Amino acid sequence: MESTNQKILLENSDITLYIKREDLLHPYISGNKFRKLKYNIVQARKEGKTKLVTFGGAFSNHILAAAAAGAEYGFQTVGIIRGEELRDKILENPTLRQAQDFGMEFVFVSREAYKTKTESYFLDSLKDMLGDFYLLPEGGTNDLAVKGCEEILTESDADFDFICSAVGTGGTLSGLINCSKSSQQVLGFPALKGDFLREDICSFVSKTNWDLQTEYHFGGYGKVTEELVAFINTFYQSYGVPLDPIYTGKMVFGVIDLIDKGWFPSQSKILMIHTGGLQGIAGMNQMLRQKKQTEITVHV
Ligand SMILES: *Cc1c(COP(=O)(O)O)cnc(C)c1O
Repeated sequence: MESTNQKILLENSDITLYIKREDLLHPYISGNKFRKLKYNIVQARKEGKTKLVTFGGAFSNHILAAAAAGAEYGFQTVGIIRGEELRDKILENPTLRQAQDFGMEFVFVSREAYKTKTESYFLDSLKDMLGDFYLLPEGGTNDLAVKGCEEILTESDADFDFICSAVGTGGTLSGLINCSKSSQQVLGFPALKGDFLREDICSFVSKTNWDLQTEYHFGGYGKVTEELVAFINTFYQSYGVPLDPIYTGKMVFGVIDLIDKGWFPSQSKILMIHTGGLQGIAGMNQMLRQKKQTEITVHV
C-alpha cells in the first residue's frame, strides 16, 4: 500500500519539502503502526494463534492499533497496561475506551511490574493467565515490524536527499534506513531523551547513512510545551496537515527549525514521514485542559 506525498510550500527558501501522509492509511491502525503490525499478523496466522497480547501506556497509539487490527483480522486482543489506577478510568480515557470498543481486554499492572514485562517469569505468568498467544512487544518493534516499515518508501521517493521521521523505539527508522538509497540521508527525531536508541537501531540495520537529531524531545516522552502546541496549530492552519503532539509534531518542528537555521544544504529535497498517531490528541487535550493551557485545535 502506498500513501501520497503532500507538498509543504516554504516561503523564501530553495528547499523542497514534502510530507508522506501515512496517517491516512487507516483511521485506527495508524501510520507506522499499520506497517509494524502487517507481517506480525501474517506470522500470528501462520502459527495458528487466535490471541494477540501486547503492552502499552494509557495513551498508546500501538495499543489502539493492535486492538483495531485484532477486530479487523479476527484475533482476540489483550493489552497489558502500565498503571493499576487506570482500571477504573477506562471510560474517561479516549485511547482505552476506543480499544475496548474494538474488543480488547486489559490487564492493568503496577509500574514496577510493568518494568519486568520482558522477564521470562512475567511472560510465564501471562501464559498461565491468558493461555496461548502471539506476543507483540511494547511499541510493536521486532524484525517483522522493521520489515513492514521497509515498505514505506517507494521507487518514486528515490529523488529525495533527506528522509525524516519521528523515533520512539527506532523500529520505523530502521525500516526506513533499510529501504533508503545510499545517496539518501535518513534523519531520526527521538520523541524521548536518551542515547540508547543508536544501539537499538544498529541491531536492525547495516547501513550508515543515518543520524539522530536529539534536540527536539521537548522535555521527554509525552511532554509538550506551549511553543510546540502553538506550532502544531499554526502548521495545521497553514497546510491543513494535522500533527500529533507526541511524535510527528516534534519531528516537523525539528525539520522546520533546521531549515530555518540553514542546516540543510541549499536545494535539498526533504521527505518527512507522517507516522500518524493523531488519536493521541484527545488524551493530550484532556491534560492541557486540566492545566488550563492552550489545546491542540486540529480536526482529524
Ligand atoms: C509509535 C510511533 C512512532 C515511533 O515509532 P518507532 O518505530 O517506535 O520508533 C512514531 N510516530 C508515531 C505517530 C507513532 O505512533
